Amino acid sequence: MIKTVDLTKKFGDNEVLTKLNVNVEQGEVISIIGPSGSGKSTFLRCLNGLETITDGHVYIDDFDIAGNELNIDKLRERIGMVFQSFNLFPHLKVIDNITLAPVTLRKMKRDEAKRVARELLDKVGLLDKQDVYPSSLSGGQKQRVAIARALAMNPEVMLFDEPTSALDPEMVGEVLQVMKDLAKDGMTMVVVTHEMGFAKEVCKRVIFMAEGKIVEEGAPDDIFTNPKHERTRNFLESVL
Ligand code: ADP
Ligand code: MG
Repeated sequence: MIKTVDLTKKFGDNEVLTKLNVNVEQGEVISIIGPSGSGKSTFLRCLNGLETITDGHVYIDDFDIAGNELNIDKLRERIGMVFQSFNLFPHLKVIDNITLAPVTLRKMKRDEAKRVARELLDKVGLLDKQDVYPSSLSGGQKQRVAIARALAMNPEVMLFDEPTSALDPEMVGEVLQVMKDLAKDGMTMVVVTHEMGFAKEVCKRVIFMAEGKIVEEGAPDDIFTNPKHERTRNFLESVL
């Protein structure tokens, strides 16, 4: 589903991703961990064309997104992204946040878009919030709306960039539960998160990144309880 070959990204002279080779199978959920500044967000952004790639390739299905700027908008519609900071539109009601992209980009009929939006709100447990503005929601509710909004485009892949990092601890669980349900439904997901419980429960693979490189990857149990590299051990001690 996703394959990067020697993916390299520089900002000026600063090489932040170095020859990354990552494969994600359809229906697979992987999590990426690593210190701040190691390139995790940049990696996700390269996967959906939010950043141009300096060198190497990113294949989504068999489509090489490097050098295919014409199709990048289409591609982005196939890849949903959820950010740490929710990024909801504050001036739009919850339901309108969700219908905006399907109506404007997909030319979906408004009624149909609303029907889909309600279905998704139901799925994330927020059907009763369809007519409120984001400002009246808790952080956990905002993030669940953001997930519903991404799903409204019917993406093939979902990218999550530290989706629970900005949440009060008591709201982390409700967002992780929505993500677990998605994983169970077979969604292909790449999740930047340090939530060990989530990784153990739903990920076959965890990738530890530092300074733009993959230091170590493996099953969650191996990475978390028996890391091979000093770098990984030090990192895990610092966050867990
Ligand atoms: P992480 O998500 O792991 O914390 P990032 O991908 O955000 O790491 O950042 C990796 C490196 O790339 C950092 O050194 C950061 O300063 C740099 N960087 C990220 N975005 C930009 C940008 N738009 N312009 C210049 N440097 C950037
Ligand atoms: Mg980041």
